[in-house]
Amino acid sequence: MIDGRAVMTRIHRVMDDGRRYYEDLLGGDDGVLVVPEVARFAGGKLAVGDAVVADDVPVLLAVGAAPSVTPIAGAAETPHLTSAELLHLDHLPASLGIVGGGPIALEFAQALNRLGVVVTIVMRAAAPLRGEEPEAGELVARVLRAEGVTVVTGATEIIIERSAPGGRLRWAGGQVDVERILLATGREPAMADLRPDAGGVELDQGGILVDATLRTTRSSTWAIGDAIGGAHRRFQFTHAATYEGPQAVNNALRGDAMTPTYHAMPRVTFTDPQVAAVGLTEAEARAAGHDVHVHVKLVRELGKARALGETEGFVKVVLDRSTHRLLGATIVAAHGGDMLASLTIPLNMGGDLGPVLATTFAHPTLSEALKVAVRNAVTSLG
Ligand SMILES: Cc1cc2nc3c(=O)[nH]c(=O)nc-3n(C[C@H](O)[C@H](O)[C@H](O)COP(=O)(O)OP(=O)(O)OC[C@H]3O[C@@H](n4cnc5c(N)ncnc54)[C@H](O)[C@@H]3O)c2cc1C
Repeated sequence: MIDGRAVMTRIHRVMDDGRRYYEDLLGGDDGVLVVPEVARFAGGKLAVGDAVVADDVPVLLAVGAAPSVTPIAGAAETPHLTSAELLHLDHLPASLGIVGGGPIALEFAQALNRLGVVVTIVMRAAAPLRGEEPEAGELVARVLRAEGVTVVTGATEIIIERSAPGGRLRWAGGQVDVERILLATGREPAMADLRPDAGGVELDQGGILVDATLRTTRSSTWAIGDAIGGAHRRFQFTHAATYEGPQAVNNALRGDAMTPTYHAMPRVTFTDPQVAAVGLTEAEARAAGHDVHVHVKLVRELGKARALGETEGFVKVVLDRSTHRLLGATIVAAHGGDMLASLTIPLNMGGDLGPVLATTFAHPTLSEALKVAVRNAVTSLG
C-alpha cells in the first residue's frame, strides 16, 4: 500500500531543498542583491516592485514559461490542474485524466500510475512526443498501456467538464470520469506580468525576440531560457537556460558577442525507458536535404539490458551518407539520458564519429549499444 501523502511530502521536501540551495547561493557575500518583487515594463521603463531601473543598466530577462491551457474546450469553466498545482497537492488522487502527449504528460502518467493512481491520457497526436522519432513515442505509449495506463491517441473534440468525482474528460468516441484533470498542453513564455511590449522588447511567437547574442530589441536588455520565443521554444530545458545564462551575462557586462548554438542541445523525457535525443531526427535530416543513412540497434540485444531486465528500447543514429558525419541520435533505454552525452559530444564537434569508433566502451554496459550502432552504421556505408 503506497502512502500518497508521504509521497507528496517527500516531493515537497526535495523541491524546497532545491529552492533553498539556490536562495542560499544567491544570499552569499558575492554582491548579488535579491529583490523578491515582480518586474514589469511600463511606458518604456522597467520597474522592479516600486523601483525604476535606469535605462543604461544591463538587464537579463529570465522569467521562464507558464502552462498553457487555452486550447482545451471547457478549461475556463472546469476545475483542473497544471503541472505546477499537481506538484503541490497534499495527497494523490484516486484517478487522473491527462490531456497532452508531451514529456510532462507522459512523465506524470507513468509515475502516478506506478503509485496506484488510475490514469487516462488523451492526446490529439497519433503518437506521443511530437517532434521526436515517431517510433520513440509509439514505444513509450506501448509501455504505458502494458503498465495499465489508458492511452488515447489521435483524439478529436477534446473537452473537459465537471462531473460527480471531480471532472469528466470527453473526446470523440469516448469519455472518462476522474477525480482530477491535468492539462499538460504546453508551456508559454511568461509575459503576463513582465509586459515586454511596454518596454520596447519585441516578441516572436509569444516569447521574447532575441538576436544571436541573446540581445532583445531593447539595447540594454538580454533574455535567456524559456522566456525566449521563436524556434528556441523547442529548447525549454534547464540545461538550455544555464548554458545561455553565462553567455548573456558576458555579452551584457563585458561587451562580448558570445553566440549560443543549439544543434547539439540534448532533449530527454524521463519516462522508463527514457527518451533521449540530440540533433536531427530522420525526418528533419531528410527535410534539410541530407542524403540520410540510418542505423538502429535494439537494446534487448545487449547482455547488460537482459541482465537488468530493461530490454525495451533502441539506439537510432542518423548519418549523412556522403560525409559519414552524425546528424542526430535517439536513445530509448533505461538511463538513456545518461548515455546521450557520448553522442552529444561528437555532434557538438561537427559530427565526426572517429573518436567514438576509436574508443573502447566497457562491457557489460548499456552504452555499448551506442558504439555498436555507430560502428554498424559506418561499416554499412562501405
Ligand atoms: C513539470 C516540469 C518538469 C520539467 N522537467 C525538466 C527536466 O527534467 N529537465 C529539464 O531540463 N527541464 C525540465 N523542465 C523545464 C525547466 O523547468 C525549464 O526549462 C527551466 O526552468 C527554464 O528556466 P528559466 O530560468 O528560463 O525559467 P524558470 O526556471 O521558470 O524561472 C523563471 C522565474 O521567473 C519568475 N518570474 C516570472 N515572471 C516574473 C516577473 N515579471 N518578475 C519577476 N519574476 C518573474 C518565475 O516566478 C520563476 O521563478 C520541466 C518543467 C516542468 C514544468
